[in-house]
Amino acid sequence: MSLQPCDSLWRASAPAAPTLNALDQDLDVDVAIVGGGFTGLSAALHLAKFGVSVALVEAAEVGFGGSGRNVGLANAGLWLEPDDLDRQLGAEAGRALYDALAVAPDYVYGLIEEYGIECEATRNGTLHCGVGKAGLTQLQRRCEQMQRRGAPVELLNTADAQARIGSEKFNSALFDPRAGTIQPLGYARGLAHAAVKEGAQLFDQSPVESITPEGEGWIVKTATGSLKAQRVILATNAYGEYGVKDQARKFVPIFYSQLATKPLTPEQLDVILPNKEGCWDTCTVMSSFRMDQQGRLVFGGMGGEKHYHASWASQRVKELWPVLQKVEWEFSWTGKIAYSEDHLPHCQQLQRGLFSVAGYSGRGIGPGTIMGKELAEWFTDRRDSLSAPMTTLRDIPLREVKRMFYEVGAHTYHVGQRTHVIG
Ligand SMILES: Cc1cc2nc3c(=O)[nH]c(=O)nc-3n(C[C@H](O)[C@H](O)[C@H](O)COP(=O)(O)OP(=O)(O)OC[C@H]3O[C@@H](n4cnc5c(N)ncnc54)[C@H](O)[C@@H]3O)c2cc1C
Repeated sequence: MSLQPCDSLWRASAPAAPTLNALDQDLDVDVAIVGGGFTGLSAALHLAKFGVSVALVEAAEVGFGGSGRNVGLANAGLWLEPDDLDRQLGAEAGRALYDALAVAPDYVYGLIEEYGIECEATRNGTLHCGVGKAGLTQLQRRCEQMQRRGAPVELLNTADAQARIGSEKFNSALFDPRAGTIQPLGYARGLAHAAVKEGAQLFDQSPVESITPEGEGWIVKTATGSLKAQRVILATNAYGEYGVKDQARKFVPIFYSQLATKPLTPEQLDVILPNKEGCWDTCTVMSSFRMDQQGRLVFGGMGGEKHYHASWASQRVKELWPVLQKVEWEFSWTGKIAYSEDHLPHCQQLQRGLFSVAGYSGRGIGPGTIMGKELAEWFTDRRDSLSAPMTTLRDIPLREVKRMFYEVGAHTYHVGQRTHVIG
């Protein structure tokens, strides 16, 4: 059974990946990587750059998972508020992770420049858009916590937020000038080009069927070949398939769907996000919106079922931007987010030499790139430890029930909002 890539805007508009082949031989390398998303590709790129022999096997194609399906908000930090991070990890470890991810956009945009990655890189900041009194309170709290840590964020008042977003439905917005938007699949494919350039061996259409210990190391097997390695990185996040399915059970998979309009008219572009910031809102069931380089509005929300999502999204965008009375969706796709119970990414040493990094909880562009780099630095003694917690995660109890809870919650919220909008 082959994995079918989704029909996304990103897949229709990304520059080509390097030409790769399926693994059809037995290779001996220092490090084997399973999964061709931001984490695996960044690890491959940096390991190769440090002179380590490395091979990466991807079940489908580069960027098949979350890396090719996401919103493309290259943020600084995690979803968690900084004080929550300190509460969960302790002040020192919380600060270390915060600091590592505060500069993640610098690192991502730096790689894009260094390797000439074509991914519609736009660094005009992001807007976390406030809805209602609770939204404003949340943004005030976040702003204070981030400013206390030296972040150059700014809480925009109602008039400024509405002008920047082009909608009267928001009462505030937290502007983060460090962040921006990218074409995420373009970035993933660009990382693949960079990794190949540095000497990493990449294989696609190569689902890993088993990983077994042998001597001091591991044998990673696909149907037509194998990798013998001292160390293995499982970088499969929410998309663990075949021989690595167990890893995905440590996180709750949450579906998130997006739609992209046809390119908007110049009049509409003057009103809707004229500065092209990437946006998401403070609603309980979050929505995101941004523009692509061709002037399409990309609008997303929690939930996996396209039929209700599209009709809800049509109503919602008309409500947000009356200038968009006729909404024509050109693309629609869904991705799976790996939610960890504490909303933090985790690095696990499953057995000696067998590592997994996952659980980005919807913030993986910067963190995935940084974690891949840090693993490479750690393996080559360039750093003593990783910024993310090293843990042994258990399977999440009632994982399917929790997934359904989120799915039904998003559905109910969208139906309720739609009824409200129509009524
Ligand atoms: C809809 C959506 C919106 C998001 N929006 C944002 C955003 O705006 N900003 C942000 O920072 N983050 C966002 N995220 C999160 C981000 O996309 C992920 O955290 C990130 O892509 C994770 O990268 P990864 O490399 O760890 O995993 P993935 O990109 O999921 O890659 C895992 C890969 O492993 C492969 N694989 C699985 N099993 C096997 C096997 N047995 N053998 C070989 N290969 C295998 C899969 O095919 C897949 O390609 C979003 C995620 C989703 C789904």
